[in-house]
Amino acid sequence: MDSAVENRNEPCALRRYEHLYIGGEWVVPLDGGYSESIDPATGRPWAVVPMGGVADIDRAVAAAQHALRGPWRRMPGHERAALRRRFAEEIREAAQQLAELESRDCGGVIRDLRASITAQAQYYQWFASLADKAQGRTIPIDSDMHVFTTMEPIGVVGAVTPWNVPLFTTCVKIGPALAAGCPVVLKPSEHTSVTALELARLAHEAGFPPGVFNVVPGYGHSAGAHLVKHPGVARITFTGEGGTARKMLHDGIATLKRFSFELGGKAPHILFADADIDQAINAATAMAWRNCGQSCALGSRVLIERPIYDRVVDLFRQRAKAVRVGMPLDEATRMGPQANEAQLKKTLSYIQVGRDDGAELIAGGHRIETPELASGYFVEPTVFAGVNNQMCIAREEIFGPVASLIPFDGEEEAIAIANDTQFGLTAGLWTRDLGRALRVSQRIEAGMVWVNTYNATRWSAPYGGFKASGWDREMGIDALAPFLETRTTMISTTGQFPNLHE
Ligand code: NAD
Repeated sequence: MDSAVENRNEPCALRRYEHLYIGGEWVVPLDGGYSESIDPATGRPWAVVPMGGVADIDRAVAAAQHALRGPWRRMPGHERAALRRRFAEEIREAAQQLAELESRDCGGVIRDLRASITAQAQYYQWFASLADKAQGRTIPIDSDMHVFTTMEPIGVVGAVTPWNVPLFTTCVKIGPALAAGCPVVLKPSEHTSVTALELARLAHEAGFPPGVFNVVPGYGHSAGAHLVKHPGVARITFTGEGGTARKMLHDGIATLKRFSFELGGKAPHILFADADIDQAINAATAMAWRNCGQSCALGSRVLIERPIYDRVVDLFRQRAKAVRVGMPLDEATRMGPQANEAQLKKTLSYIQVGRDDGAELIAGGHRIETPELASGYFVEPTVFAGVNNQMCIAREEIFGPVASLIPFDGEEEAIAIANDTQFGLTAGLWTRDLGRALRVSQRIEAGMVWVNTYNATRWSAPYGGFKASGWDREMGIDALAPFLETRTTMISTTGQFPNLHE
């Protein structure tokens, strides 16, 4: 497990993970099996991971329940915080190795992942500082009744994560859940389980009591669905597809499960004619192709005010050709492959739909077939101009490196197009007019709006979606609330209770 990672996307001996992490121990799957993890840069297996099943989820939930009622519950907040700071430090020290492993598992570019994981260590530090801050209130009612509230962990939390940015989505889930005092059972994506198991190793080294953090890789339809149905799990926190969230809601009915969802986006990135065009183009092109388009926050709909439309189209065409697409472990690479074969096919089929619907393909549009990249899941940075917001490529989440350029006239039309979507996760706008920045940003139906920047996140700033993009917030103090229950205690200062049957 601790062997050095092969530092290039080349065939190597399979990296083997034999064990799930349950109740503080490394255990073989009871009713699952093993699965090969594919390196999307080569299309070849590079690791073998355990896949837990229903019985494994059962014992992970039992271990988490035990932790909830045992030493973790009794541990003072400042001690829980100290443990979590140690965990954050372990992550910071392991950032390079984690980045290499995650890069092989999901195809993310090494320099982006290293920066992200280093930032995640800070997120964990910040969440650690919340561990003793879940404070209640004293409520004045009348002199013979003393009333106060205390905040309690909601119970065991099931975290279900996707393959696009596995460690980041895990961080913003388990960070606040553990801060609230909830033990966690993490079920990572079947495509990207390696770094979840590495995280378990770091949690073990940090000294978390058994059962506080459990990792059970497995398939969605078996391990994932069982976690959702499990009566011992109080809340599911999930990032992924809206269709999966709907299935989860159905599966959660019998146990009245509570859910936190982060379900994707189709973000408008609005360029007004008065913007600093150089900066706006830097952001708009970076945010079309970052992580090969596989992030729900990216600005896949670029709304361009008519006077600068032709110039921006031209700049997009030029920038698309200049993107350094390559092996994700190469430090010079800026864009890697799609994370798996299904996603590659999905992106290529959306590109065909864009063509069929009459959008003008001005750059890219194909799988990359050069000898070095042909076996991996690489797609050219792709740009459609002349897109109309009713077209399928402007309405559905592609999750590929595909920018849709949409012209508009004036503020009202920009706002109307921006909001004409089922999603509402993020949005960006570029303007030098402060009044416009305020007017427009406050009318956009999105949980996060960036002005003259894009994709900036901080641990203390709430992040999450309006509309079909999700429920609850994953960062900031707001992220604690879903994992807490309020208990109200009323104490009579007289102890008098009338006999109602006299
Ligand atoms: P998905 O929603 O199917 O899977 C995400 C996670 O949910 C995985 O861990 C999976 O095992 C689990 N899961 C699947 N079915 C489940 C079930 N019935 N019960 C419990 N858990 C279940 O997403 P995907 O297959 O990884 O990707 C499909 C599409 O979702 C992508 O093409 C993309 O458009 C979108 N996506 C969105 C995000 C996002 O950040 N919002 C992330 C990844 C993928």
